[in-house]
Amino acid sequence: MDLQLKGKVALVTAASKGLGKATARQFAREGAKVAICARSELIEKAAAEIETETGAEVLALRADVTRQEDIERIINATVEKFGGLDILVTNAGGPPAGTFNDTDLATWETSFNLTLLSAVRLIKYAQPHLQKSSAAAILTITSTTTKQPAQNMVLSNSIRLAVIGLTKTLSQELGSEQIRVNSILPGWTYTERVDEIITARIAKTGNTKEAEIASVNAAVPLGRMGTPEEFANVAVFLCSPAASFVNGVMLQVDGGITQGTF
Ligand code: NAP
Repeated sequence: MDLQLKGKVALVTAASKGLGKATARQFAREGAKVAICARSELIEKAAAEIETETGAEVLALRADVTRQEDIERIINATVEKFGGLDILVTNAGGPPAGTFNDTDLATWETSFNLTLLSAVRLIKYAQPHLQKSSAAAILTITSTTTKQPAQNMVLSNSIRLAVIGLTKTLSQELGSEQIRVNSILPGWTYTERVDEIITARIAKTGNTKEAEIASVNAAVPLGRMGTPEEFANVAVFLCSPAASFVNGVMLQVDGGITQGTF
């Protein structure tokens, strides 16, 4: 199937590793021009790696998605470099693990900024450019915690639901602007973020890493965690013109771990 992404411009935030990087790589493989951002120097390394592998143009931008001025700068830089913007993938680092009792109010505020306001700001600044595209799409990256709260993840369980509400609302409000808005709810996908969560669990349970990973795998009907590439394949399809009538969908990519019927 031709995803019709050749020459399209995609911005993927928080993409120096993990799900964001895998998604940027897959856009590049499909012939899109890609801008990526993160806070550290790993972003230039990621861009060089993707360029070498795919031959696509990749723009690396240092930016912190919790900062409004950084968001404005990366949207402008992407449009200046590539002449427009067709696709926005709003990704950010995950909020810290912890229970309600572990989590102080300051951490709630920084996590709200990281998880919800980053998406709001990215979409606000991207919208005027997406309105000019004939293939405009926004994808928010959320989590299966929005369907089924995970233990020790009160911030993700709570704040990501607001991103789902935003996504669904925008799929209705921006439909008349021909901007499609969807979300992917990843389940366990093996990235550095997952390593951090496993480490936090070990600190609580005293189990070995192998035992913690085995217990996660056992909870997934497919018996394993997903790979970032498996996530990226779905993300890139959803954002592509090949999915041109898919709007307002909250799609689990989770190996079947979510128990609910809908
Ligand atoms: P990851 O491997 O830890 O990668 C996170 C990426 O985000 C890095 O490139 C990091 O680079 C960047 N980043 C973090 N904070 C940032 C900020 N303030 N501004 C800009 N970039 C930032 O995480 P992941 O597993 O790919 O997860 C991506 C998102 O999906 C997270 O929100 C995570 O909670 C969510 N999620 C993941 C899973 C999973 O199983 N992997 C499941 C459900 C949900 P710098 O540190 O250099 O900025």
